[in-house]
Amino acid sequence: MNVNARKYRLHLEYPFGIASYTRNHHDIVLLQIEHKGLVAYGEASMAKYLGETPESVMDFIATIDVRQINPEKYSIADIHAYLNSLAPGNTAAKAALDIALHDLQGKLMHKPCYAMYSSKPEDMPLTSLTVGIDQPEIIREKVRKASAFKAIKVKLGSPYDKDIVAAVRQVTDVPLYIDANQGWDDKHLALDMIYWLAEQGAVFVEQPMDKEDFDANGWISQNSPIPIIADEAMQRLQDVERLADYYSGINVKLMKCAGIYEGYQVIQKARSLGLKLMIGCMTETSCAIAAAAVLAPFCDWADLDGPWLITNNPFEAPVLEDGRIQLNKSYGLGLNLTGQL
Ligand code: MG
Repeated sequence: MNVNARKYRLHLEYPFGIASYTRNHHDIVLLQIEHKGLVAYGEASMAKYLGETPESVMDFIATIDVRQINPEKYSIADIHAYLNSLAPGNTAAKAALDIALHDLQGKLMHKPCYAMYSSKPEDMPLTSLTVGIDQPEIIREKVRKASAFKAIKVKLGSPYDKDIVAAVRQVTDVPLYIDANQGWDDKHLALDMIYWLAEQGAVFVEQPMDKEDFDANGWISQNSPIPIIADEAMQRLQDVERLADYYSGINVKLMKCAGIYEGYQVIQKARSLGLKLMIGCMTETSCAIAAAAVLAPFCDWADLDGPWLITNNPFEAPVLEDGRIQLNKSYGLGLNLTGQL
């Protein structure tokens, strides 16, 4: 088995602004595993606030003894136990391996990855396209171009939140998913805003306030007319139980929970606690999005828009039909290179 990792810079079609920063590009690590003439792909896309970098991902992958990760010899669970024995954290690096190994295992077993989890294509939720914080004319332009999407995710947490929503509403009447990215700092004002947003057709709000402020987020969640979803506060399986006391739901992201294997456990745990589920992404190519799409049918909402926000996706874009990503019926994740790699 051959494992090759390389850094890759994703270029964004528009500068992407959220409550705390704006950026034009995003560096990821792409992984390629070759085994018995098969090629499988994985991807690590790092969240700034979790401390991983392309270098730390490359370093982690370099410490792996490939004899320990052969999926014909060891189960995915065994491989995760081995990866966790090397170092804690490093969840994006572990997700890259997890994704590539699922792709490889599907190809070896002649199964699409979603069939490995008995995930049902007909249960696929709508996926939103995210509109970052921007000038109203740019927001209107982005929303106009997003007509293939039947839900729009709006980033708020700026002094111009109502203007942003008004700009979106001038162009579309689709449901709105709201993400404040911890950008609001007064729970009463946040709740007033959420009532206003609900009147504008918002379906839920992600992470209204600082992830450490459980009481404020919990108070908002208790009093809100629409579900409040933990995102920055949610990382791994062990977080789910505590979050159930403070939020109506959680946003599952493969890069934070080390891939499909733990992501599936997060979903099972969240459902057992009565939580709503959203599945989201970082700035990602079709590779990590195809992996998240495997679990998306178990969730209420999906925000898997990475491939539509970048200009140099090295893989063919997922197929979108009626606002829903279509699960790929090819073996593994069914990824095809576009030749840009
Ligand atoms: Mg979010």
